[in-house]
Amino acid sequence: MTAMHPSEELLVAVASGQADLPHRVMVEGHLDSCAPCRAALAEVSTPGGLLLASLPAARPPDALWERLRVGIGALPPGGGAAKNPALAPFPLPEGARREMPDIAAPRWHRVPANPGRYAVLFRDQVSGSVLLLGHMPPRRGFPAHLHLGPEDILVLTGGYEDHLGSFEQGDWASYPPGSQHRTFTEPGEECWTLTRLEKPNLYLGWRGWLQRLRR
Ligand SMILES: [Zn+2]
Repeated sequence: MTAMHPSEELLVAVASGQADLPHRVMVEGHLDSCAPCRAALAEVSTPGGLLLASLPAARPPDALWERLRVGIGALPPGGGAAKNPALAPFPLPEGARREMPDIAAPRWHRVPANPGRYAVLFRDQVSGSVLLLGHMPPRRGFPAHLHLGPEDILVLTGGYEDHLGSFEQGDWASYPPGSQHRTFTEPGEECWTLTRLEKPNLYLGWRGWLQRLRR
Protein backbone atom coordinates (compact mmCIF):
# COMPACT_ATOMS: atom_id res chain seq x y z
CA MET A 1 0.00 0.00 0.00
CA THR A 2 1.63 3.21 -1.12
CA ALA A 3 -0.70 5.39 0.89
CA MET A 4 0.66 4.41 4.31
CA HIS A 5 3.91 6.42 3.99
CA PRO A 6 4.87 9.96 2.99
CA SER A 7 6.17 10.23 -0.58
CA GLU A 8 9.90 10.21 -1.26
CA GLU A 9 9.57 13.80 -2.53
CA LEU A 10 8.22 14.79 0.87
CA LEU A 11 11.01 12.97 2.74
CA VAL A 12 13.53 14.86 0.61
CA ALA A 13 11.73 18.13 1.33
CA VAL A 14 11.92 17.43 5.07
CA ALA A 15 15.58 16.41 4.93
CA SER A 16 16.54 19.50 2.94
CA GLY A 17 14.58 21.89 5.13
CA GLN A 18 12.12 22.79 2.35
CA ALA A 19 9.03 21.32 4.03
CA ASP A 20 6.73 23.61 6.03
CA LEU A 21 6.14 23.07 9.75
CA PRO A 22 2.92 21.04 9.38
CA HIS A 23 4.62 18.60 7.01
CA ARG A 24 7.77 18.50 9.13
CA VAL A 25 6.11 17.62 12.41
CA MET A 26 3.82 15.09 10.75
CA VAL A 27 6.68 13.35 8.93
CA GLU A 28 8.71 13.30 12.15
CA GLY A 29 5.72 11.77 13.91
CA HIS A 30 5.52 9.08 11.23
CA LEU A 31 9.27 8.41 11.45
CA ASP A 32 8.90 7.71 15.18
CA SER A 33 7.21 4.43 14.26
CA CYS A 34 8.39 3.70 10.69
CA ALA A 35 11.85 2.15 10.26
CA PRO A 36 11.62 1.90 6.42
CA CYS A 37 10.98 5.66 6.12
CA ARG A 38 13.79 6.43 8.62
CA ALA A 39 16.12 4.37 6.42
CA ALA A 40 14.86 6.10 3.27
CA LEU A 41 15.40 9.51 4.85
CA ALA A 42 18.92 8.57 6.01
CA GLU A 43 19.68 7.47 2.46
CA VAL A 44 18.63 10.75 0.85
CA SER A 45 20.43 12.65 3.63
CA THR A 46 23.85 11.00 3.35
CA PRO A 47 26.80 13.02 2.05
CA GLY A 48 26.76 12.98 -1.72
CA GLY A 49 23.03 12.37 -1.61
CA LEU A 50 20.23 14.67 -2.59
CA LEU A 51 20.38 16.75 0.56
CA LEU A 52 23.97 17.77 0.10
CA ALA A 53 23.35 18.52 -3.56
CA SER A 54 20.49 20.83 -2.57
CA LEU A 55 22.51 22.88 -0.07
CA PRO A 56 24.58 25.93 -0.95
CA ALA A 57 28.29 24.99 -1.02
CA ALA A 58 29.18 27.45 1.75
CA ARG A 59 26.74 26.05 4.30
CA PRO A 60 28.61 25.11 7.48
CA PRO A 61 28.50 21.51 8.72
CA ASP A 62 26.78 22.56 11.96
CA ALA A 63 23.77 23.85 10.06
CA LEU A 64 23.67 20.65 8.05
CA TRP A 65 23.70 18.53 11.19
CA GLU A 66 21.02 20.70 12.75
CA ARG A 67 18.78 20.04 9.77
CA LEU A 68 19.51 16.35 9.78
CA ARG A 69 18.85 16.02 13.49
CA VAL A 70 15.49 17.67 13.05
CA GLY A 71 14.78 15.84 9.81
CA ILE A 72 15.59 12.43 11.22
CA GLY A 73 14.02 13.17 14.56
CA ALA A 74 17.23 12.42 16.46
CA LEU A 75 16.78 15.06 19.15
CA PRO A 76 16.49 13.51 22.60
CA PRO A 77 12.85 12.82 23.50
CA GLY A 78 11.36 15.06 26.15
CA GLY A 79 13.50 18.03 25.13
CA GLY A 80 10.39 20.14 24.59
CA ALA A 81 8.28 18.73 27.39
CA ALA A 82 7.96 22.06 29.19
CA LYS A 83 6.84 23.83 26.01
CA ASN A 84 3.25 24.35 25.03
CA PRO A 85 1.55 23.17 28.25
CA ALA A 86 -1.83 23.71 26.56
CA LEU A 87 -1.04 20.76 24.29
CA ALA A 88 0.15 18.45 27.09
CA PRO A 89 -3.13 16.45 27.30
CA PHE A 90 -3.05 15.46 23.63
CA PRO A 91 -1.15 12.51 22.09
CA LEU A 92 1.13 14.63 19.89
CA PRO A 93 4.50 13.44 18.55
CA GLU A 94 7.60 14.81 20.30
CA GLY A 95 8.53 16.77 17.18
CA ALA A 96 5.22 18.66 17.28
CA ARG A 97 5.66 19.55 20.97
CA ARG A 98 9.18 20.73 20.27
CA GLU A 99 8.61 22.74 17.11
CA MET A 100 5.14 24.18 17.52
CA PRO A 101 5.06 27.79 18.65
CA ASP A 102 3.27 28.25 21.97
CA ILE A 103 -0.48 28.40 21.65
CA ALA A 104 -3.33 29.02 24.06
CA ALA A 105 -5.82 26.20 24.67
CA PRO A 106 -6.96 24.66 21.35
CA ARG A 107 -10.24 26.11 20.05
CA TRP A 108 -12.40 23.16 19.06
CA HIS A 109 -14.63 23.24 16.02
CA ARG A 110 -17.51 20.78 15.93
CA VAL A 111 -18.58 18.82 12.89
CA PRO A 112 -22.34 19.42 12.30
CA ALA A 113 -24.47 16.59 13.77
CA ASN A 114 -21.38 14.44 14.35
CA PRO A 115 -19.13 13.69 17.35
CA GLY A 116 -16.00 14.72 15.40
CA ARG A 117 -14.06 17.83 16.37
CA TYR A 118 -10.88 19.56 15.27
CA ALA A 119 -8.67 22.48 16.26
CA VAL A 120 -6.25 24.54 14.21
CA LEU A 121 -2.80 24.15 15.83
CA PHE A 122 -0.77 26.14 13.34
CA ARG A 123 -1.10 28.23 10.19
CA ASP A 124 1.99 28.44 8.01
CA GLN A 125 2.25 32.02 6.78
CA VAL A 126 4.52 31.12 3.86
CA SER A 127 2.88 28.03 2.36
CA GLY A 128 -0.63 28.87 3.60
CA SER A 129 -1.09 25.34 4.94
CA VAL A 130 -2.76 24.57 8.26
CA LEU A 131 -2.06 21.87 10.83
CA LEU A 132 -5.20 20.44 12.43
CA LEU A 133 -5.59 18.22 15.48
CA GLY A 134 -8.61 15.98 15.00
CA HIS A 135 -10.54 13.74 17.36
CA MET A 136 -13.20 11.08 16.75
CA PRO A 137 -14.67 8.61 19.26
CA PRO A 138 -14.34 4.91 18.36
CA ARG A 139 -16.69 3.27 15.87
CA ARG A 140 -18.06 6.46 14.33
CA GLY A 141 -18.17 7.87 10.82
CA PHE A 142 -16.77 11.21 9.74
CA PRO A 143 -19.07 12.72 7.09
CA ALA A 144 -18.24 12.65 3.38
CA HIS A 145 -16.20 15.60 2.22
CA LEU A 146 -14.36 16.90 -0.83
CA HIS A 147 -10.67 17.83 -0.68
CA LEU A 148 -10.29 21.20 -2.41
CA GLY A 149 -6.51 20.93 -1.94
CA PRO A 150 -4.15 18.09 -0.96
CA GLU A 151 -4.85 16.46 2.41
CA ASP A 152 -2.29 14.52 4.46
CA ILE A 153 -3.20 12.64 7.63
CA LEU A 154 -1.04 11.11 10.36
CA VAL A 155 -2.85 8.74 12.74
CA LEU A 156 -1.78 9.46 16.33
CA THR A 157 -3.95 6.93 18.19
CA GLY A 158 -6.65 4.46 17.22
CA GLY A 159 -7.32 4.02 13.53
CA TYR A 160 -9.80 4.57 10.72
CA GLU A 161 -10.89 3.02 7.45
CA ASP A 162 -11.89 4.49 4.12
CA HIS A 163 -11.90 3.48 0.44
CA LEU A 164 -8.06 3.38 0.45
CA GLY A 165 -7.73 0.94 3.31
CA SER A 166 -7.22 0.76 7.05
CA PHE A 167 -4.93 3.27 8.76
CA GLU A 168 -3.44 2.51 12.16
CA GLN A 169 -1.37 4.46 14.67
CA GLY A 170 1.66 5.99 12.93
CA ASP A 171 0.26 5.45 9.41
CA TRP A 172 0.29 8.21 6.80
CA ALA A 173 -2.47 8.90 4.30
CA SER A 174 -2.44 11.32 1.35
CA TYR A 175 -5.46 12.45 -0.64
CA PRO A 176 -5.13 14.49 -3.84
CA PRO A 177 -7.15 17.62 -4.61
CA GLY A 178 -10.55 16.74 -6.03
CA SER A 179 -10.79 13.42 -4.17
CA GLN A 180 -13.48 12.72 -1.62
CA HIS A 181 -13.97 10.22 1.17
CA ARG A 182 -15.76 9.39 4.37
CA THR A 183 -13.99 7.68 7.20
CA PHE A 184 -15.00 5.23 9.94
CA THR A 185 -13.02 4.96 13.14
CA GLU A 186 -12.15 1.54 14.51
CA PRO A 187 -13.63 0.13 17.72
CA GLY A 188 -11.94 0.27 21.09
CA GLU A 189 -9.82 3.41 20.88
CA GLU A 190 -10.30 7.12 20.36
CA CYS A 191 -8.88 8.24 17.05
CA TRP A 192 -6.58 11.27 17.21
CA THR A 193 -5.06 12.60 13.99
CA LEU A 194 -2.88 15.37 12.65
CA THR A 195 -4.01 16.75 9.30
CA ARG A 196 -2.32 19.15 6.92
CA LEU A 197 -4.55 21.08 4.53
CA GLU A 198 -3.77 23.73 1.95
CA LYS A 199 -7.42 24.50 1.29
CA PRO A 200 -10.47 23.83 3.44
CA ASN A 201 -12.42 20.62 2.98
CA LEU A 202 -15.98 20.91 1.78
CA TYR A 203 -18.66 18.70 3.32
CA LEU A 204 -20.96 16.98 0.85
CA GLY A 205 -24.76 17.02 1.21
CA TRP A 206 -26.62 19.26 3.66
CA ARG A 207 -23.51 19.91 5.77
CA GLY A 208 -21.95 21.49 2.70
CA TRP A 209 -24.88 23.91 2.33
CA LEU A 210 -24.61 24.78 6.01
CA GLN A 211 -20.87 25.29 5.62
CA ARG A 212 -21.37 27.64 2.66
CA LEU A 213 -24.05 29.63 4.49
CA ARG A 214 -21.66 30.22 7.39
CA ARG A 215 -18.91 31.64 5.20
ZN1 LIG B 1 6.89 5.11 6.50
